[in-house]
Amino acid sequence: MMSSQSCSRCNKIINPGDPFYRLLIKVFADFDGVINIKSEKYDLNKEFEKIKSIPEELLEEEVYKEFNFVLCPRCKEIYCANPLNLPLNLNNNP
Ligand SMILES: [Zn+2]
Repeated sequence: MMSSQSCSRCNKIINPGDPFYRLLIKVFADFDGVINIKSEKYDLNKEFEKIKSIPEELLEEEVYKEFNFVLCPRCKEIYCANPLNLPLNLNNNP
């Protein structure tokens, strides 16, 4: 028997057979091939100390983080309209 689940955003109960959406967000470190060793802002020793002081499980989250949400149709529309939750630019209105 399928158990009901709830929307990750509004907690609405999603009963078996109800439409719902799966929201999978992957956040991972990307690399453009440029190493800014000469950058004055980049102190290799300081960066290394910083990394050493971070627990390993947190360090992995720095590189890769995955979110898995269930959304009801309404919350899916709201999410897709503004995934990054950017401030709405009211001056853009016609
Ligand atoms: Zn919802």
